[in-house]
Amino acid sequence: MFDAVTVSKMFVTPSMIRVRFGGPELEHFETSGVPDERLRLLFGEGEDQTVRSYTVRTFDPRGPFLDVDFVVHDGGVAVDWAVHAQLGDRLKISEARGWYRPPADSGWQLLVADMTALPALTRAVEQLPAGSQAFVIASVPNQADEQVVSTRGFVSYQWLHTDLRELAGQETTEKTASKLSLPKAVRSFNLPDGPGYVWAATEATEAREIRKYFHRELSWTPDRFEIKGYWRRDNERWQQRYAQVEKHIDALREQAVADGKSGFELTRILDNALERAGL
Ligand SMILES: Cc1cc2nc3c(=O)[nH]c(=O)nc-3n(C[C@H](O)[C@H](O)[C@H](O)COP(=O)(O)OP(=O)(O)OC[C@H]3O[C@@H](n4cnc5c(N)ncnc54)[C@H](O)[C@@H]3O)c2cc1C
Repeated sequence: MFDAVTVSKMFVTPSMIRVRFGGPELEHFETSGVPDERLRLLFGEGEDQTVRSYTVRTFDPRGPFLDVDFVVHDGGVAVDWAVHAQLGDRLKISEARGWYRPPADSGWQLLVADMTALPALTRAVEQLPAGSQAFVIASVPNQADEQVVSTRGFVSYQWLHTDLRELAGQETTEKTASKLSLPKAVRSFNLPDGPGYVWAATEATEAREIRKYFHRELSWTPDRFEIKGYWRRDNERWQQRYAQVEKHIDALREQAVADGKSGFELTRILDNALERAGL
C-alpha cells in the first residue's frame, strides 16, 4: 500500500475528474505498463474503510505522479471523495494489476468502454504499436465527454451518447441522444477478417452480454478477449437480491474451484448462475 497525496485536480471533460497523486511513497510504485492496470483505493479508516477499483491513467516516475480519472456520477464514496478532494488530501493506494493482453498475431483490436473504462481505453490507444488497427466503441454522456488521444495506430471511433443516470437505472428527464447500448453496438459491428482481440469494460450486465456474444455465440477462445464488468447498475438493489442467493452461489464457486476451475471458466460458471438467479 502507498500513502498518496493529492497534488492537483482538474476536469478532463465535464463528467471526468482527474486527481494527480504524489508523495514520497509513490517512488516505490511499480507499473507494468499494461493499460488497464487496476488500483484499489482505500477510503476512510478502520471499520468504516471502503475499497473501490480505479485505473492508473498515467504514472510518471519523475514526479512521482500517478493520475486517476474519476467519472462523476450520482453519489458514492469514491466519487464524493473526488468531487470534494482538496490539495493535500491523502488516500491509500494498492499495487497495480492489469489484464489487457492481445495475442501477438492480432491483426486488429476492438476496444469497448463506457465512461469508467475510458482511462484504460485511452491508455491502450496511446500505446498501440505503429500501424496497428483498432476500433473503438465507447459510450459517454455527450460529445463533450468524448476523448481522442494521440496514437501511432490507426483508430476509428464510434461514440454512443448515453445519459449516466439512465445507464445507472435512475429516472431522468433528459432525452438521450442514443438508444443504442454498447452490447447492441458490438453486435452490429462487422468484425474484420483474421485473428483479432477484444477488450471491453462496461457496466456488469452489459459486460456479461458482450462476453456471451464472443464466447457462446461466436465461440471465441478466452485468450482472444478480456471483457470485464467495472460497476453495477443499481448496486444497492442488486446486493439485496444477491444476499438471497449468496449461499448457493458461494457453494457453486467453492465446488468449481475444487474441480480445478479458475479464470475465465470460473467467470462463465458464475455468470450463468447469476443469470439463472435473475441477477
Ligand atoms: C478494474 C476496474 C477499473 C476501474 N477503473 C475506473 C476508473 O478509472 N474510473 C472510474 O470512474 N471508475 C472506474 N471503475 C469503476 C468504479 O470502481 C465504480 O464505478 C465504483 O462503483 C465507483 O464507486 P463509488 O463509491 O463512486 O460508487 P458506489 O458506492 O460503488 O455506488 C453508488 C451508486 O452509484 C452507482 N454507480 C457506480 N458507478 C457508477 C457509474 N460509473 N455511473 C453511474 N452510476 C454508478 C451504483 O450502482 C450505486 O447505485 C473501475 C472498476 C474496475 C472493476
